[in-house]
Amino acid sequence: MKICGRCDRSIRDGEPYTSHDICSASGGGATVYRHVALCPKVPTQTTQGSVRH
Ligand SMILES: [Zn+2]
Repeated sequence: MKICGRCDRSIRDGEPYTSHDICSASGGGATVYRHVALCPKVPTQTTQGSVRH
């Protein structure tokens, strides 16, 4: 499943999207997918990878 890098939502099969290759310093390349249609950009959050109550 592809996740849109802009709205952070899944991109369904058949849904138009664009792909952007990103070269990371760690050696492994990453690909970011984005919807072709304008989608709401989610603000950057710092809760990634951590769950707090
Ligand atoms: Zn999107």
